[in-house]
Amino acid sequence: MSAAPEEMACQVCLSPLNTLGMPPTYVHPAHLTTDGHDPAPVPVSRLDTVHRSCDFCGDPYPTWTLHGGEVTAIAISPTTGLVQDFGHAWATCATCHTHIDDRRNDKVVDRAARALGFGNHPQARERIAELHDAFLTARLPGRTLITTTAWPATTITAGELPKIRDRLTRFYRGADKLPAALGITDVRDQIAASLDRSHLYWIDNDFTDLAEHAAAQLPDVSISRDLMPSADGMLVWPRPVTHRQFTAASWASTNDRLQLVLYRAIGGSLDGKPLQRLREQVGWLVPMSATHLPERRVVPGSHPSAMLVATWLLITQQAAEVTAARVDKGVAKTYARTGRPTPEVRIVRIRGPRTSAPPGRRPTPDGTERSQTSRVWVSGHWRNQAHGPGRKLRRPVYIHPFLRGPDDAPIRLSTTVRMLSSRRPKPDGRE
Ligand SMILES: [Zn+2]
Ligand SMILES: [Zn+2]
Repeated sequence: MSAAPEEMACQVCLSPLNTLGMPPTYVHPAHLTTDGHDPAPVPVSRLDTVHRSCDFCGDPYPTWTLHGGEVTAIAISPTTGLVQDFGHAWATCATCHTHIDDRRNDKVVDRAARALGFGNHPQARERIAELHDAFLTARLPGRTLITTTAWPATTITAGELPKIRDRLTRFYRGADKLPAALGITDVRDQIAASLDRSHLYWIDNDFTDLAEHAAAQLPDVSISRDLMPSADGMLVWPRPVTHRQFTAASWASTNDRLQLVLYRAIGGSLDGKPLQRLREQVGWLVPMSATHLPERRVVPGSHPSAMLVATWLLITQQAAEVTAARVDKGVAKTYARTGRPTPEVRIVRIRGPRTSAPPGRRPTPDGTERSQTSRVWVSGHWRNQAHGPGRKLRRPVYIHPFLRGPDDAPIRLSTTVRMLSSRRPKPDGRE
């Protein structure tokens, strides 16, 4: 028996592709409206975001892959007899999954009929129910988390971080599967143990702006323990960062090796019971990219982890002011009940006001006098600095952008770098 060909998606629109004919050609799904581009097939395992929809109801945020009966349907159109292979692995949204869990398959049929515009049409409902039943009656136990869904942005506050870490740890130790393409199936227990030991960092908005700007220019970096703010850690940015839309990262150091995982936040469009189930079963974060590195391995500046590495470097080069946040009372109580010390969340923001250059007195590079009614950030850059034994190692140091203009002038937001500091945070880290 030959292995099933790997599922392909279009690299341009990130939509999974259908196959037609023999040998197969890849085509966009018939219902998809594209800008007319040709399909550019790549194996889905190479993408960290895929625009899938729920195979039951068409919802754009599928959460689980369920395994069941092989389902094939034939639709006849005047030009082609189209055979649609639904396969034996169905993407399932959180709402359909909740109904299936509760044995309310009729509610799943309702959702599908509504999505297809059939409303209460009895025959259409019957056909849909047949398809669903063919799959569900042969369903195998277990489920696999879909990590490639592009969820709407969710805000995570500093106070929530311990709870979010604990739920993620529980997911790693649980029985629900992760896609093999992530490559962390064998190290889930190690990642969970590292998360238990982790220092927790919550990065404020301005520091995130600075890190994102700095990450875009990051040179190749030889990763070593002294570049990291702690041996094991987890950090959260207050909004999705880079074009890949990461929200959090974790790192684990074990025996000269380093395991980095980047996460996205999930559940952004949900409420009610499906959201509650998702929080219980998964939590807030799902891994979307993982890297296993020996120490001293050079990571290219274009690596998916560049944003994490830039954030580390900025923290360890003392560009950061790190203070402890108060955690939610409920979280503190839960920890006390189970005999664990109250977790500490470190809030990372830009250190002090950095107007070391006398404001307004420096000529601009082009020699013109800039308006003194606003301040602008002058972009920074990375410079390699010697460090370590015999100063033989090189570490990139970000030479700060600085504020130019009168101290009390508003900061002009039209510049590429928006950052500003010395604002005292509210104790719970909310903005
Ligand atoms: Zn496409
Ligand atoms: Zn659904």
